Amino acid sequence: MTGRLIIASNRIALPGAPKPGGLAVALADALAERGGGVWFGWSGEVVERETRGVRLFAEGAVDYAVADLTQDEHDGYYLGYSNRALWPVFHYRVDLAHFDEADFAAYEHVNRRFARLLAQFTRPEDAVWIHDYHFLLMGQEMRASGWDGRMGFFLHIPFPAPEIFSALPQHQRLARGLCAYDLVGFQTHRDTANFRRYLIETAGAVEQDHRTLRVFDRTVRIETFSIGIDPDEFASLPDSEDGRAAADRLGRITENRALVIGVDRMDYSKGLPQRMEAFGRVLDDHEELRGRVSFVQIAPPSREAVDAYQQLREQLDRLAGRINADYADLDWMPIRYLARSYGRGSLAGLYRLARVGLVTPLMDGMNLVAKEFVAAQQPDDPGALVLSEFAGAAEQLQAAILVNPHDIAGTADAIVRALSMPVEERRERWQSLVANVREQDIGWWRKAFLAALVEP
Ligand code: ADP
Repeated sequence: MTGRLIIASNRIALPGAPKPGGLAVALADALAERGGGVWFGWSGEVVERETRGVRLFAEGAVDYAVADLTQDEHDGYYLGYSNRALWPVFHYRVDLAHFDEADFAAYEHVNRRFARLLAQFTRPEDAVWIHDYHFLLMGQEMRASGWDGRMGFFLHIPFPAPEIFSALPQHQRLARGLCAYDLVGFQTHRDTANFRRYLIETAGAVEQDHRTLRVFDRTVRIETFSIGIDPDEFASLPDSEDGRAAADRLGRITENRALVIGVDRMDYSKGLPQRMEAFGRVLDDHEELRGRVSFVQIAPPSREAVDAYQQLREQLDRLAGRINADYADLDWMPIRYLARSYGRGSLAGLYRLARVGLVTPLMDGMNLVAKEFVAAQQPDDPGALVLSEFAGAAEQLQAAILVNPHDIAGTADAIVRALSMPVEERRERWQSLVANVREQDIGWWRKAFLAALVEP
């Protein structure tokens, strides 16, 4: 294929700014490898009145194009429909979802406006790759504006069971929108199966082969591409200046106690209250571990303008306070709960220092932290990973200690088991985990998706 690659994502990493993570680097690499292209998205700016067109930044053969959102668009499209309706429903939290027609109208409007802006950049031989739940309708709007070239979509969050998806008042509109793409990629086989089942049961889709459906007068390929990390980066970061400094600072306080670590954005999908309760249960039931183990949970608040996030913050403050009050001693604090964010180097240093990594979301698209934790371990003395069976990563990381995060007693048992796991077993499990993290890394993911997108 000779055309360029055109990428759209809500957030974009502009040239010159540090790339916030592996995904941004991978997409920049994909653009460079194709000999150029365009990366389009929201500027991150909220403005009083709609600004026309886009702002352009060039780096080599790649153009970065950004557009602002008005306050109403930001409230309706971003805070409203994306984060109060789609995010909770796709994470199985229909109880937290807020369905507001005005929010959906804003979502549709931004998808249409952005599609028109993006369509200006496309040439017939290009391939378009659109990302995530903010832009479910962008493909259909691109088609409406005349684009009929190759176009793929990747969903970074879970796709729920059809019965849950159908709770969205606009589910039919969204599903039809997704079928405007030639390729729709999901994180796990579970997500792929959910979307296929929805289309077959409710939209009369007909299977053409194990990955292609005929539906809404279109042929759509639906496939799993599990996103990965850059394992070399996380293997070397613990030895960086930041990595060592963070491990030194925490190591001085935890001393020779075993460290259990959790690192998450503060989100109700991450199972943070259940995780704290499970750690509390460990202390309730295991007197011998009191004073011998420290749990550090790093959880910077996010989306604070959304009510459910404020309530979670209060719940976590209370829980950590209670467990610490029950068990802390003059020289030991059971839970260090840090509602702030750390750089990647520091996190990697802490991952390596830890004996146990706790990654116990109630539902998660992939959960890259699980893979980062694995990659950062020392081969001869690796920490053990306790992983939720509902994290996307569980499909690949079967050698972790898998838990049901709703089962507090079971999770507590898993923590105790991880803490007492002999080094031989830790090594054996880690070998299997790291082999997967290395093989299916971020480069593998983007190449697999792009190959499927341009295949005839
Ligand atoms: P999500 O996309 O829902 O936030 P993931 O686990 O898939 O969850 O990805 C989170 C990314 O953000 C990882 O690369 C992780 O290192 C980073 N991250 C998560 N929590 C923190 C934190 N407390 N401080 C800094 N970075 C974080």
